[in-house]
Order: sequence, then structure tokens, then C-alpha cells
Amino acid sequence: MIRAKYHIETPSVGAILREQAAAKTEIGLAAEKYTREGRLVPDEIIVALAESWLTAHDSAFLFDGFPRTIGQGEALDNMLNKRNTPLEIAISLDIDLATIQDRVSRRMVCSKCGFIVSIGLHVESVDTPCPRCGAVLHRRKDDSLDALQQRMIEYREKSEPLISFYAQRGILRHIPAQDRPDAVFAEVCTALEN
Ligand SMILES: [Zn+2]
Repeated sequence: MIRAKYHIETPSVGAILREQAAAKTEIGLAAEKYTREGRLVPDEIIVALAESWLTAHDSAFLFDGFPRTIGQGEALDNMLNKRNTPLEIAISLDIDLATIQDRVSRRMVCSKCGFIVSIGLHVESVDTPCPRCGAVLHRRKDDSLDALQQRMIEYREKSEPLISFYAQRGILRHIPAQDRPDAVFAEVCTALEN
């Protein structure tokens, strides 16, 4: 939606990794071992993917789910310094653990087109076919509650420090992400426009 409204690219490093895993590339299979257990994929892999994306695109962009560590944030700064396009905004989508657990337990992904749906919101049950292309829906391998617990530990240890990393530079915007997607989208638009 952001892509269509603002004509900027919105690359998701996570989605790129899942595509690579589905295609069974070396990098995809290596990354899957980590994400299945709720562990962060090592910085070298993530930074290499982000760098190859940036090399191939000179448009404006909003990365989804990157950077996730201070090391990745510093690497991103280096890449952007070379392009002379410093980062203008970092968005933190703030949400409580109970809502995350609920969303993860409802989340399904289309095996063919990658469309992400929520049971009870977009589809009735796990057996409903993809509303976009009709293929079978499945759970992401990292969407188990065990993996989620591990992801939260990793988040607190490695990702949360990014909040102050960007707040100190005055480019951080907090957005409450408890609400329905259209309300969160409206808040993100306001943040981007200001
Ligand atoms: Zn589909």
C-alpha cells in the first residue's frame, strides 16, 4: 500500500529470505535454520542481501524488518553514506506481547503467491484457499509459539537497542500498531508525510 501511494520501494528482507528458502538457494537454506528456531539471521547474510538490493535500486525505499541489530544499522549507514542519501526516518511499530501472540497464531501465508492472511480477518479457517490465487495456505516455519518466545528474547537483546540508536538522531517515529491495519497504515502515512 505504501509502495502504491508514495511510489517508493518497500523491500522486506524477511520476504526475500523466505523466497530464497523456497527456491532452496544456499543463502535461503542457511537463513531458514535460524528463523525456524526464532533466532536472528546473522548480520553478514542480512547485510549482504540489503546491499545487493540497494545496488540494484536507486529509488526511494522503506525497508521492512531491517535493520534488526545495531551492526545492521551501522552497515546501512555506511551503504547510505556512499549513496549520499542519509536515512530520513525510522519507524517503530509498537505492540504488546499478547497481540503479537494472537497475530502469530492466526497468520497464514500463501504457498504460491506469498499473500499473508489472518484467520478470522481475511479467511475463515486454516483450510480456506488463498483469497488472491486459490493456492493452499500454510504457516510460516517461524510462527510457532516456541520460536516466538525465542524471537522476543532476541528482540530485547539485539533489536531494542536500535530504538535509542535512532531516537538519538531525532529520526525515530513511534506508531501504535495494536489497531487494525488500515488505522496503522494511516499513522504511517502521517509519519512519512511529516
Ligand atoms: Zn496466493
